[in-house]
Amino acid sequence: MARYTGPVCKLCRREGKKLYLKGDRCTSGKCAIDRRSTAPGQHGATRKKTGEYGLQLREKQATRRYYGVLEKQFKNYYEEAARKEGMTGENLLVLLERRLDNTVYRMGMAESHKEARQLVLHAHFTLNGKKVNIPSLLVKPGDVIAVKESSRSGAKFKAIAESLETKTAPKWLDVDKSALSAKVTAFPAREDIDFDFNEQLIVELYSK
Ligand code: SF4
Repeated sequence: MARYTGPVCKLCRREGKKLYLKGDRCTSGKCAIDRRSTAPGQHGATRKKTGEYGLQLREKQATRRYYGVLEKQFKNYYEEAARKEGMTGENLLVLLERRLDNTVYRMGMAESHKEARQLVLHAHFTLNGKKVNIPSLLVKPGDVIAVKESSRSGAKFKAIAESLETKTAPKWLDVDKSALSAKVTAFPAREDIDFDFNEQLIVELYSK
């Protein structure tokens, strides 16, 4: 499965904002965007402000990169969002939030979307009791996501269990910290998404 494997801090600098792609490092003094917020490349520091199209494109790229989704897949999410009732931009974000890798991240089981994706790919989770390894699977109300029995005793998940004590999940997830599991209690709502997306710019871009 294809995915971006280049330097991720460059992506934040390109978008001009923190995309939180590196876990703890993103909130430490080592964050590249805190130290040097200019765009990457020889002329990054002198690049001019972009016009309307540029802003729309950057918002789409930032959102896509935040969730770790490739271009074609992102367009497919947009098309599905446009077919649904309601606001297309909100529908798009809700679809992205419902991805299994994002759900694992929101449960507090990973420090970044990238790590969550790896954990899912390595089949450390079950969905409704069945082993899963597809990061793009969409969860729905009633679903239960849990760390696989045989993975729970490993050092990795022992450390994750300890770290959960200080984490808070969004209200659409009912996390059982001792069982390393979560039940999806509702579809995510726009106000549950704690990131400054401007989804209307993405709608405007794709509506051209
Ligand atoms: Fe982005 Fe995190 Fe790198 Fe900072 S440390 S630039 S937020 S990926």
